[in-house]
Amino acid sequence: MEERLQKILAKAGIASRRKAEQLILEGRIRINGHVVTGMGSKADPNRDTITCDGHPLVFEEKIYVLLNKPAGYVTTLSDPQGRPMVSDLLADIPLRLFPVGRLDLDTEGALLMTNDGELGNAILHPRYEVNKTYEAEVSGSPSVDKLKRLESGIEIDGVMTRPAVVRLLRRHKGTTLVEITIHEGKKRQVRKMFQAINHRVLHLRRTAYGNLRLGSLPLGKYRVLNQNDLKKIF
Ligand code: URA
Repeated sequence: MEERLQKILAKAGIASRRKAEQLILEGRIRINGHVVTGMGSKADPNRDTITCDGHPLVFEEKIYVLLNKPAGYVTTLSDPQGRPMVSDLLADIPLRLFPVGRLDLDTEGALLMTNDGELGNAILHPRYEVNKTYEAEVSGSPSVDKLKRLESGIEIDGVMTRPAVVRLLRRHKGTTLVEITIHEGKKRQVRKMFQAINHRVLHLRRTAYGNLRLGSLPLGKYRVLNQNDLKKIF
């Protein structure tokens, strides 16, 4: 059956729709030997030979893992500065998995990784509004009032954040542990939200992606997800 080329490229594990479009525009994709540059191009992956830079696309089995990312690892697939990458922690999986979304270098916790480009793109779409839950250890002792401001929405980079769920977990010797669940995934969002109420995030850990919780998964380890786990994300 014919499908849009971008969709086929995503199925073959090419990370994002934008990247797939770029490959097409750069003339690196051929269908049966002919370069295609049109965004509306279609092909039948079962009948046509589709290549990227001359290599036929491979449709691998789809795998989904939940990684407990340690601080100090980048969520990009290459790093010019040679820092440790999350893919290093999946070295025993003989497939190229990419992270769905990102976590800062210094953030720990739940990171979904997959070679399923279609699902990866779908999950990131704002329509699904996947909740992300974090535990943030912050400086000082934010008042209940300030935490309420985080809940109702606060301006960061000129835009109001969507309502969040905030739970005070513990106050302890000059720091406070707060659980916060947000729907969006703006760059450094949690850090910026606390910055906006004048408290610095000292330690940040994502404890759940949707309803999929890290549980007792050790730092630096991953577990392969099953269909039941995946249902907890949406
Ligand atoms: N918010 C942040 O500030 N950092 C992350 O890594 C994720 C959410």
